[in-house]
Amino acid sequence: MEKTMEALLMYAPGDFRLERVPVPEPAEGEIVVRVEGAGICAGDVKTLHGGIRVWGTCEKDRFIEAPCIGGHEFIGRVVAVGAGVEGVEIGGRMISEQVIPCGKCRYCLSGNYWMCARSDIYGFKKCAQGGFAEYMKFHRRGRNHRIPPDMPLELALLTEPYACSMHAVERGRIGHDDVVVVSGLGCIGLGMINAAGNLHPRLLIGLDLRPKRLEMAKRFGADLSMNPEETDVVGAVKELTGGYGCDVFIEASGNVGSVRQGLAMIRNLGRFVEFGVFASEITADWNIIGDTKEIDVLGSHLGPYCYGAVIKGLERGDICGDGVISHMFPLREWKRAFETAEKDPEAVKVALIP
Ligand SMILES: [Zn+2]
Ligand SMILES: [Zn+2]
Repeated sequence: MEKTMEALLMYAPGDFRLERVPVPEPAEGEIVVRVEGAGICAGDVKTLHGGIRVWGTCEKDRFIEAPCIGGHEFIGRVVAVGAGVEGVEIGGRMISEQVIPCGKCRYCLSGNYWMCARSDIYGFKKCAQGGFAEYMKFHRRGRNHRIPPDMPLELALLTEPYACSMHAVERGRIGHDDVVVVSGLGCIGLGMINAAGNLHPRLLIGLDLRPKRLEMAKRFGADLSMNPEETDVVGAVKELTGGYGCDVFIEASGNVGSVRQGLAMIRNLGRFVEFGVFASEITADWNIIGDTKEIDVLGSHLGPYCYGAVIKGLERGDICGDGVISHMFPLREWKRAFETAEKDPEAVKVALIP
């Protein structure tokens, strides 16, 4: 194995650098993989632009331990294992869940590991360097899963984002009689359409501004898709529901307009699932939640207990991923890749291939 590798390090907002760094070596319990690919998350683009959730307002509330190798949507082939690792073959394909549970805090001890108080997430911490590199290390406490050897990379790379989709859909407790709206049809929103569609609700509606994504949502199981810039979506959903509004609204755009539309189109006692990540604080009419509609607001974060199900669904084909990975770039072209992810209307999920 080589001694050094190419890696994309995040130093500061606007300061990402491609550098040569040592190839990680596995200590006890650790696994080193040759990265096959790593998707660029909308969050990664926000991180490049100084997203406050990552960089904080001062040193004290900074989430990232910079410089750190980015990327949490990776797939790799095992090249080395440390002492004490069992049941992992060299050459096998693996993914590690994005959060590394500490195993000691009250969340980990109660099975709610994705809310771990330490919140060690690949791509943000010194102990959890990410997949924008030729090699990476899976932490000894990482939750690792096998990827089938013959699964196309374009599908395998969707495991992490689709696990987030599945968890958000589960939070919505969708029933067969429900009218469900998913707002924001990026990779994760499309995965929500997939996961929600598999529960066979009465009506499944996707909302997005990009024609390509609206068309994909229909292909992935939405009964209807609408563009809020062209259609009065609140009026349309009310009309489709006898004036009541949708039962479940899943917010996956991280856009203030989407939140306001959701609060307006959801029925009394409806379930509002918030997954989107916002660039800054937003304002919306909080009265709607209590005084007006008695809504259940349900947050959703990461994809706990969903990786195995997503991998199985992708393998069986009842979770679709056709065309979601719209672009692949070599790691060296990371700037072009980030620009494409941010600005190209045809882009859905852009991946880096180290
Ligand atoms: Zn992500
Ligand atoms: Zn913990």
